[in-house]
Amino acid sequence: MTAIDRFLSKIKFDDVTGCWIWTGALQYGGYSVFKTEANKLTTGHRWSYERFVRPVPPGLELDHTCHNGTGCVGGPKCIHRRCVNPWHVEPVPHIVNHRRGNRGLELEAKKNLPETPRRKYPKTEAQKARDRERYLANREKSTARARRWYAEHKSRAAARAKARYALRKANDLGNTGISNQDGPGSIFPA
Ligand SMILES: [Zn+2]
Ligand SMILES: [Zn+2]
Repeated sequence: MTAIDRFLSKIKFDDVTGCWIWTGALQYGGYSVFKTEANKLTTGHRWSYERFVRPVPPGLELDHTCHNGTGCVGGPKCIHRRCVNPWHVEPVPHIVNHRRGNRGLELEAKKNLPETPRRKYPKTEAQKARDRERYLANREKSTARARRWYAEHKSRAAARAKARYALRKANDLGNTGISNQDGPGSIFPA
């Protein structure tokens, strides 16, 4: 059996998508495995591309153009990884292939997003005003809390730095190695 016969015997043609779905062995990543005439293992789509189109230019890898969100589950289970149609792949730099890797999955996810629920009854002006009031009240509270926290921590940090500096100066030790963080070795009680 010639390589081309072996190759063709493992394909199921999809008349709708034009994909040549590999029915033979798959790699861990879900791509087809094919043994060349020279008994070397390669992927089906690579062998197919090089056999029917041209050699893959050095430094480039083959990207499935049919992996476009149609019937995609993404990852190793994606049907497109099994496609060995030589005209469904194109040589691209690794970075492009990597970036496109999740394209199908992303498109599918977008498609499946639930519609933004619309309010059955639009809010009245009074309701909107009350919402806004609540938002402003909470915003002020949280801003005040953040300011307090910042002021407190800033002054604590400054006090620690000052004390550390004074200690170093008094002992003339240079860097004491004592951290201003709480914990063992701290010169400041928690
Ligand atoms: Zn395909
Ligand atoms: Zn896909």
